[in-house]
Amino acid sequence: MAEECCSPSEILIFTCSGSSNVGQVANQAAVDLQQEGIGKMLCLAGIGGHVSGMIASAQSAKRLVGIDGCSVACTKKTMEHVGLSLTDYVLITALGYEKGPYSGTMDKKAVDKIKDEMKKQIVKPIKIEVK
Ligand code: SF4
Repeated sequence: MAEECCSPSEILIFTCSGSSNVGQVANQAAVDLQQEGIGKMLCLAGIGGHVSGMIASAQSAKRLVGIDGCSVACTKKTMEHVGLSLTDYVLITALGYEKGPYSGTMDKKAVDKIKDEMKKQIVKPIKIEVK
């Protein structure tokens, strides 16, 4: 039987939270999405560290949202490393942003753009199989 997904509590948001400008934009976009009730953030480092409870949470989520700063794609690769695939994904440099050092000043326009891109994906329901 198939049903459509999801309520915010069933959506987990992961971000690379990298030290670069785009990594910091990724993190802020994820924080904002959580604040807006779109989904719930979970620590990517916990997945990379094989923390069993965090992996179990991710396995039971209906939607796994990922935001990466650059094409090194740490979020996507970390999830794949434990056998999980993202259902929704934004790669910031693919949207025309250049990676560089983080100045300490958040690019709020970039954050809004990333949030908009992610919301476009999340509002589209996906079919999930219910056993
Ligand atoms: S995806 Fe890019 S910006 Fe993000 S942590 Fe990895 S190398 Fe850094």
